[in-house]
Amino acid sequence: MINIAILGSTGSIGTQTLEIVDSNPDIQVMGLAAGNNVDLLEQQIRKYRPRLAAVWSEKAWHDLQMRVADLPIRVVCGMEGLLEIATMEETDILVTAIVGMIGIRPTIAAIEAGKNIALANKETLVTAGHLIMPLAKEKGVSILPVDSEHSAIFQSLKTENAEQIEKILLTASGGPFRGKKREELASIQVEDALKHPNWSMGQKITIDSSTLVNKGLEVIEAKWLFEAELEQIQVVVHPQSIIHSMVQFKDGGILAQMGMPDMKLPIQYALTYPKRRPMGGKRVDFYELGQLTFEKPDTETFRGLKLAYEAAHIGGSMPTVYNAANEKAVSLFLERKISYLQITELILEAMNNHKVIANPTVEEILRTQTESEELLCSLVGSGINKG
Ligand code: NDP
Ligand code: MG
Repeated sequence: MINIAILGSTGSIGTQTLEIVDSNPDIQVMGLAAGNNVDLLEQQIRKYRPRLAAVWSEKAWHDLQMRVADLPIRVVCGMEGLLEIATMEETDILVTAIVGMIGIRPTIAAIEAGKNIALANKETLVTAGHLIMPLAKEKGVSILPVDSEHSAIFQSLKTENAEQIEKILLTASGGPFRGKKREELASIQVEDALKHPNWSMGQKITIDSSTLVNKGLEVIEAKWLFEAELEQIQVVVHPQSIIHSMVQFKDGGILAQMGMPDMKLPIQYALTYPKRRPMGGKRVDFYELGQLTFEKPDTETFRGLKLAYEAAHIGGSMPTVYNAANEKAVSLFLERKISYLQITELILEAMNNHKVIANPTVEEILRTQTESEELLCSLVGSGINKG
């Protein structure tokens, strides 16, 4: 039996993880956590019968408790609830499919409790990788990547020695605005940015994919996961999203992992690793596909990618500022309070205003997040940054 708990079970990765549970009878769900989507969480509880469920707000907690009063389940809430789900005694793997830096504390708590982590929540590694990776090593737990690119790198590395890596070739679809120039992006509306050409994902990561900030976060994620130097990580735009990433070795040989753009494979691989299990679904048809193409990313138009390299080079608390400013800017954009181009302008502004802390603790990371959010609100409120 593989016992799992999921943080973010009602989201895109969370629901696809439960589809994997449906087709693997030996995977059992012990705990589920969501934000406030009580309707879907109730359905999931009735189907998967976890022992513990968590929601974010007290209102959702009261609501869910009443709804599942007939079942032998305990309902918890808030950060304490997430921490309980993360550290449940009977679980082997915690799937971190929650969105944003809120995942930091539960992820660290799970590692401390000896749980392996199937990691989708990249924001946690981007901001706290310097704490998480050594802790995982110390506790002997595995961080199994769910992000498709990182799963591809992980799969490509399986037969090789990590010291033999020359370069990581991180592929990017280029998002819905590939080929456009900066002036053309000024009028982009929320609806335009939410249309991703190849992947169906949660709102925040869909916006991040369109700005290439997602790729920036993934560069930093790869740096931590594979102990790579930033200079070794090259982003390659590959619009078909068939090659999910590649590793080039010191002899010049390259291994790539390919497949249809479907998150279920990386999720299943993370849950059943080191076993590769059968899975249904559409296969790549190279006759139909015809060609795979590659381009250099346009970092003048998509400044978010360049800023990620800068933040990672500076290190310390700067990746936190990059990520926290982006999280806040994306939510302001989704609320239609700022324009599309302001997202990256505000990240830059937040980075320029920050005094770096070299080796931030969790408290310092969370304080830096709050400060970055406050700065963004004041910039937007005072109209300094009208994009
Ligand atoms: P979604 O927005 O679809 O889902 C987010 C999940 O987190 C929901 O279940 C949501 O609950 C829950 N959540 C949000 N806030 C809280 C909170 N305060 N407490 C408890 N639960 C909360 O996101 P995705 O599934 O798209 O992404 C999740 C993570 O995976 C992100 O870090 C993303 O970058 C990463 N990722 C996603 C990919 C994808 O294909 N979607 C691919 C690779 C990585 P509720 O529904 O109740 O709001
Ligand atoms: Mg990805």
